[in-house]
Amino acid sequence: MNKLSIKKGDEVKLLSGKDKNKRGKIIRVLPKYSRIIVEGLNVHFRFSRPKKAGEKGQRMELPGPLNISKVMLICPHCGKPTRVAHEVSDEGNFRRCKKCGKTLN
Ligand SMILES: [Zn+2]
Repeated sequence: MNKLSIKKGDEVKLLSGKDKNKRGKIIRVLPKYSRIIVEGLNVHFRFSRPKKAGEKGQRMELPGPLNISKVMLICPHCGKPTRVAHEVSDEGNFRRCKKCGKTLN
């Protein structure tokens, strides 16, 4: 999958790792590293230190980056995990679901 296959806001399914088969929405794309950050997936916890004495530290959930090749796009039309076809037209480039043939974006 190249960096244009998926983008922020897409729903994806994770193909491997501890969250295998889980779904989530892409909240960030890091094209330079071929990585994405998906809401609720590959989450690790970080504890912030208390700012004042007597205050409790806070536990924060942080979704970690995932390699783009480890996810598959879920088509919003047919709801199936799919590969993306790239097409070029006069109006520009667009993506198409290989399962149902409908245009994505
Ligand atoms: Zn589809």
